[in-house]
Amino acid sequence: DRVLVTGANGFLAVWVVKSFLDKGYTVVGTVRSEAKGTHLKKIFKEHGDRFQLAIVKDITADGAFDELVKDVDAIAHTASPFHMEGEDPQVWIHPAVNGTISVLKSALKNGKNVKRVVITSSCAAVQKAVTEPQTFTEEDWNQASIDEVETKGKDASNIMKYCASKTLAERSAWEFVKEHKSEISWDLTTLNPPYIFGPVLHEISKPEDLNTSAKLIWQCTQPSSTMTAEQLAAPAGEWIDVRDIALAHVLALEKEAASGQRFITSTGAFTYQDWLDIANSLSPSPLKRDVPKGVTGAGKAAKHNVKFDTSNAAKVLDLKYISAEHSLKDTLEDYAQRGW
Ligand code: NDP
Repeated sequence: DRVLVTGANGFLAVWVVKSFLDKGYTVVGTVRSEAKGTHLKKIFKEHGDRFQLAIVKDITADGAFDELVKDVDAIAHTASPFHMEGEDPQVWIHPAVNGTISVLKSALKNGKNVKRVVITSSCAAVQKAVTEPQTFTEEDWNQASIDEVETKGKDASNIMKYCASKTLAERSAWEFVKEHKSEISWDLTTLNPPYIFGPVLHEISKPEDLNTSAKLIWQCTQPSSTMTAEQLAAPAGEWIDVRDIALAHVLALEKEAASGQRFITSTGAFTYQDWLDIANSLSPSPLKRDVPKGVTGAGKAAKHNVKFDTSNAAKVLDLKYISAEHSLKDTLEDYAQRGW
């Protein structure tokens, strides 16, 4: 089978492409420029014709994917801005929503062989900040982020603008499918991961250029990290290894029962202190440098109010999770190899 993967050069997407290739699929990966595809051609060279590149300069342009969807059996749409640079909420919302709609419109028009579209959404589209413990499920939507961006506009925090972009994009996908139900031969599945950590396959020359989530682990393990003991021990969110969420994209395409569903995919909650404890307990240490110690064990007392019900992904996708020790060991080994 042939799969179209959008934003193929991203941190997550390169692993998604790799997962599909490893399972025998042919992958057409889109990037915004020739230059962004060079590294991909190199790392997937062994797969020959089973990895193909396509340039889509503007994912929001009308008909941007019209030709590309013609001969694919499935689509994994991952391209969406996850950075913290900008002011206008549309920096995030426009490409997230209109990129999604553009993929779906092309699939509606020309996707005769398409059976399923998987969209990388996020826990950002599910959870909101809470002061008491709350377990979020696939029934939940982060309406709070949309409200905040509507009220505060450019003065909303950039993380809220990102959350709003993910919520609006996912919601618009479900609305599109509902509206065109009688005309489409494919169905939709969305994946809602929390922070994605793990080793890097995409093109990166220095740690400062790491993507938003992977950079957090690099920063907290730096000897020069300025995080206080209090910050280190505070609840920081939930996480999943990049290889698990990449595989989840394959499973979401393959499992019939995943049709029409959202899946919260999370390994568990973390504090940055938890990561430091693991980093300092690895023997031998993958790194040739020190890692800050913080206050060993202090993360264990964190009160994680945001909780996720991941039973749907366990049941339908049969998704298993790489442990924190395994994930961090591989991440630090990756840093060591790069001389970081
Ligand atoms: P990266 O920044 O590494 O990759 C983002 C990808 O999206 C790149 O291919 C990028 O292309 C593309 N992209 C970004 N903005 C635009 C735009 N305006 N127009 C076209 N393409 C664009 O991010 P991740 O790999 O971390 O994220 C991938 C997906 O996973 C996103 O949908 C993100 O929301 C989602 N996600 C990520 C999480 C995480 O912790 N990393 C958590 C939950 C969800 P280019 O290189 O050309 O900019």
